Amino acid sequence: MAARIYYENDAPREALEGKHVTILGYGSQGRAHALNLFDSGLDVTVGLRKDSPSWSRAEGDGLRVASVHEACADADLVAMLVPDQHQAAVYREAVENNLKSGASLLFAHGFNIHFGQIRPPDSIDVSMVAPKAPGPLVRRTYEENSGTPALVAIHQDATGEAKSRALAYARGLGCARAGVLETTFAEETETDLFGEQAVLCGGTSRLIQAGFETLVEAGYQPEIAYFECMHELKLIVDLLYEGGFAGMRDAISDTAEYGDLTRGKEIIGPEVEAAMRKTLEDVRSGAFAREWVLENRAGTPVLDAERRRQTQHPIEEVGARLRGMMSWMNRK
Ligand code: NAD
Ligand code: MG
Repeated sequence: MAARIYYENDAPREALEGKHVTILGYGSQGRAHALNLFDSGLDVTVGLRKDSPSWSRAEGDGLRVASVHEACADADLVAMLVPDQHQAAVYREAVENNLKSGASLLFAHGFNIHFGQIRPPDSIDVSMVAPKAPGPLVRRTYEENSGTPALVAIHQDATGEAKSRALAYARGLGCARAGVLETTFAEETETDLFGEQAVLCGGTSRLIQAGFETLVEAGYQPEIAYFECMHELKLIVDLLYEGGFAGMRDAISDTAEYGDLTRGKEIIGPEVEAAMRKTLEDVRSGAFAREWVLENRAGTPVLDAERRRQTQHPIEEVGARLRGMMSWMNRK
């Protein structure tokens, strides 16, 4: 069955007209959502901790800022855009007892609802608008009159307006220009976690490092290995993004294409496929979620140790040196 996709004509603004919209958090997504919705003419308040360094930044951007308590008290829609691992605490401390019934609680990722870390009362809507892009791109594309695609999902519809509000929110973000795909909290959460672990972040990082390690171990220069396994990946991914596999294979040499078609499946073979199924099962069973929640309760010892260990990998030294030579990369 083809996915249901909403565009601007399917997403009337009215559902949020005259409503108070509160954005909690002013990081990657929070800043983009607050500014895009404000520029779309919505009534936006940013809710932050009193001592938050983001407070002056949001005010400097021309937005109204209040404490999380105050910003939730008369809100019709609250977007929970603090980091996933802090959402349950923020919800318990400042949102739960302040939300009026008939309000909408909106997420950009389903983790805390799907895995039961936040359990809102039946009297409020629980919805999701998840842009499929990092926050700065959600902002930049809006300013360029385009937009990033997003997912929309409804977990709980107390008002009968959960979906029309979520679609109006997605429209205010500029996402309905690009397309808003209907999904569920389960599908978004499980595919998002699987994708970042198996392909986008975990799989890609390890693939690059293993390729680099193989070449350096065999005695090739680390600089050559870096360009081959890391730098050129961006160029290939750009081709994939624009034209899919056919477009990419059109642009590479026949030699590269023959190697792609005959050797790729030897690298990503049955063993990796089995590991992917295991990774997906850990996501679906809640085992990964439990591990991540407990890791945070313990003060993130594994995250800190792994981050330290990653800075020691030999690709870091050669990469920093080579990127430093490409001056156009540092202009950001
Ligand atoms: P972030 O880490 O960039 O920003 C979080 C902000 O929350 C901080 O800048 C701060 O202003 C605030 N904050 C932090 N701790 C707080 C606390 N205890 N109380 C109040 N405010 C606090 O977060 P992010 O990456 O924008 O993620 C927000 C949500 O968006 C998450 O659910 C995430 O999964 C989702 N999301 C992120 C991206 C992305 O590209 N970063 C993409 C899609 C969805
Ligand atoms: Mg993700």
